Amino acid sequence: MYLRLAQRFLKETDKRLLWKAAWTLGARGLWSVHRHKRRLKKGEFFPPFLYMSVINSCNLRCQGCWVDVGAKQNRIEVEAANKTIAEAKAMGNSFFGILGGEPFMHKDLMKIFEANRDVYFQVFTNGHFITDEVAAELRRLGNVTPLISVEGTEIISDSRRGRAEVLNHTMQGLEAALRNKLLVGVCTSVCKSNIDDLVNNAWVDRLIEMGVMYCWYHIYRPVGPEPNPQLALSSEEQRRVRQFVVDTRATKPIIVIDAYHDDAGNALCPAATGFTHHVGPWGDIEPCPVIQLATDSIHDEKPLAQTMNESSFLRDFRELTAQHTRGCVIMERPDLLVELAEKHNARDTTVRSEVIDELKKVTPRRSQFQPGDEIPERSFVYRWAKKYAFNDFGTYSKHFDVSRYEDPDAAGIRAAGESGNSSTVENKHSDLPIISN
Ligand code: SF4
Repeated sequence: MYLRLAQRFLKETDKRLLWKAAWTLGARGLWSVHRHKRRLKKGEFFPPFLYMSVINSCNLRCQGCWVDVGAKQNRIEVEAANKTIAEAKAMGNSFFGILGGEPFMHKDLMKIFEANRDVYFQVFTNGHFITDEVAAELRRLGNVTPLISVEGTEIISDSRRGRAEVLNHTMQGLEAALRNKLLVGVCTSVCKSNIDDLVNNAWVDRLIEMGVMYCWYHIYRPVGPEPNPQLALSSEEQRRVRQFVVDTRATKPIIVIDAYHDDAGNALCPAATGFTHHVGPWGDIEPCPVIQLATDSIHDEKPLAQTMNESSFLRDFRELTAQHTRGCVIMERPDLLVELAEKHNARDTTVRSEVIDELKKVTPRRSQFQPGDEIPERSFVYRWAKKYAFNDFGTYSKHFDVSRYEDPDAAGIRAAGESGNSSTVENKHSDLPIISN
């Protein structure tokens, strides 16, 4: 399997791009994590991976999106983006995730890539703007991997993403990227309407056949102005996705990314562990893309290194979250975010200015934290890589307090029991070791 994966990389991707990825993402990426660990030992902080939403606009209107895509366009301009990247580079960072809106709607996106050829960018995109011309330019630049989102079959994609022909256009962009031998990934926000179609061997085999080198399964998080809780996965479905990811890593010649588990299958939140934070389209420094609260900005006078190190809002976010759960705080404990925002007088970073109300309306549900059901990595390569470079860096042993954990599934059972309606609650794990008081 590993041999087949290596062969695929060598045959199907431009070798120059491959070398660049191996050096910048691989070797220098490990170095950036090493520096992160050294900083933590000294009591200092700067996240080794930064995500930056460079624009709020998007051509689609996806269900459950939390970005103000229809508001007046705002961009992180080239100068501010370059300055942020330079300041992160000075801390050892070499990899940046670029999000939107739709990043390819940023008129100067290529200029940002061009000005920073010594780092690597992963662009989260719907693929609609990737023409042969764009893909050829990305190949010339050599430092960008498009991560193209596919959200289901034609009918599901069109209904989830708000217009007709969405999947067709996405597939055209994907094909253009592959024709130009880019290193291409496909990501999916897994929910009830696409789990059967996209979390299976036939879909992964199709991606491999097309030339896709990696896939990434996110879990749909029903947050934002128009959440769709009916699409959210149950605990059982989330465990099914995790098992599929672990099995696929051990058996298929494709890289599978998930950002929510360590080598032993213990859940983690990459924002709570300080592995990453996010810069929004207005320059606000947020814990992660879906938590639209901030006290700091890249446009502040202070150097970014000082801001990250000294931000009491971000530090409190990491500690408070890690004290209560290893999972996703916005899904499990949105009340903690309200508390945090009040304590720090954090600003709502959206145009709609309703984030606190939105958080108050979130119904807590389990996320990647499925205590008692940890599924360890089967693949020794992932085990090794995660042991060294993707784990909680001691966050949870330092902060997690089991007595503070409130199991949303158990709370659901209690609520249903109190209303005499327990038969409607799905939970086959009421005997889990950690139950709220
Ligand atoms: S808070 Fe939730 S969405 Fe944000 S990084 Fe953590 S797990 Fe992901």
